[in-house]
Order: sequence, then structure tokens, then C-alpha cells
Amino acid sequence: MITLRSEEELRRMRDAGRIAAIAREAGGELCKEGVTTAQIDAAIRKVIRAHGASPSFLHLYGFPASACISVNEEVIHGIPSDRVLKNGDVVKIDVGAFYKGYHGDCAASFPVGTISPDAQKLIDVTRESFFEAIRAAEKEGARLGDIGHAVQTYVEKFGYSVVREYVGHGVGQKLHEDPEVPNFGSAGRGIRLSAGMTLAIEPMINAGTHAVHTLRNKWTVVTDDGKLSSHYENTIALTEHGVEILTDPS
Ligand code: MG
Repeated sequence: MITLRSEEELRRMRDAGRIAAIAREAGGELCKEGVTTAQIDAAIRKVIRAHGASPSFLHLYGFPASACISVNEEVIHGIPSDRVLKNGDVVKIDVGAFYKGYHGDCAASFPVGTISPDAQKLIDVTRESFFEAIRAAEKEGARLGDIGHAVQTYVEKFGYSVVREYVGHGVGQKLHEDPEVPNFGSAGRGIRLSAGMTLAIEPMINAGTHAVHTLRNKWTVVTDDGKLSSHYENTIALTEHGVEILTDPS
């Protein structure tokens, strides 16, 4: 079931979204050589709590930390640890904040020190594919499939591939709600998008094969070929006036 949100609910989701986005940026600033992913997680948790919110991911389905922090070939669901970041790493931070009954969910990919031009390109294209999806969603009569189609056609032009097993989702009173929002698919297919929907759109884009598997820790998803993966996500609201990004730090 897809829930449509009222103006009052959107106001609350803006607050939750802003806190999640501030936490994402705070984590991004710590992506430096010598910092551990557990230190980044602790800083994120502190920022979220300082705003009177709670970390959406902590203990969700048993996840042991406040943020998913995935490095290089790790796609999503990386568990913060004593892993020390090195120059050239690409770090994906995915974080949710729960505030006054609503969740905000967002992610981004951050470079550590100097990364290769190829890695920077993957980060840039992944981020841009999100905005391609937004433009598709804003078109009159847009359908759910237009979002995935926009992401897929954009990134495949660069020779990249879209992760199939994990998708975006509705978000609101629960972190994961209907509908599923794939980053691939056919234009003109699926439900019609309408004002009041709140969605987490989150392209997960691989430099090589789209195939992924889960490590023995039962959480961390990695690329089958060990090549780099990038992630970018915002919680958005569809409104009468277009798309509003709710995970806006300002
Ligand atoms: Mg999400």
C-alpha cells in the first residue's frame, strides 16, 4: 500500500530529512586517511542524537550500527569497524534519521584523499543519474518505471551497470514502505506517480558487472568482480509543483 502524505506530514519529513542529510555531510567530512569507519559511525550517531532524532538503521533487522559504511567494492550495508581508511578509497555513507514519527534516508559516495579519475567519474555519474530520475519523475503523467529507466539509460551510456537485487523504496513512518523503486526498467510502466508520495531514490551503480553477493557477515554486499561501486540517495516528495528533495541539509 502506498501512503500519500499531507502537507503537515511533509513538514515533519523535511525535519527528519534535514537531520539525515546533516549526518551524511558530517560523515563525509570525516572520510580522511587514518580515520576508521567506526569513528565515522560514532560521529554520525552523535549528530543525529544532538538533533533529538534517533538513527533509523540502528538495530533495524538487527543491523549493529547507525550508518551503513561501505568501502570500494562494497556496494551497501557495510558494517562500521576498525577498518582504517586509505588514500584513494571511495566511501559510501548511507544514513537514516527518525524524528517525530518520520524517517529521512540518504546516501552519498565520498573520496578519501586523491582518488583515480575513473573513480571520480563513477561517483559523478551515479549522482547525476539521481537527478536524471528526478527530471523523469517530474514529467506530466510519469510512472514508476520512468525513474528506473532514467537511471539505467543514463549510467549504461558510460559503460556502468545497475545493481538489480537492491532498490529504492517508499519512506515515511517506516523506513521501508511500498513501492519498491528499481534503478532499472521500462519507461511508461508501473504505477502512475502522484503528489504526496515520498520515495527514497537510490542508484547503486557498479563500474563492472551488475552482479553482487553478500559476505559471510550476512550484511555487506560486494560486487562479484571486485570492481568499484557507487551509491547516491535522497528522500524526495512528489508535490503539485514538482519534486522536492527532503534530505536537504540547509
Ligand atoms: Mg534507502
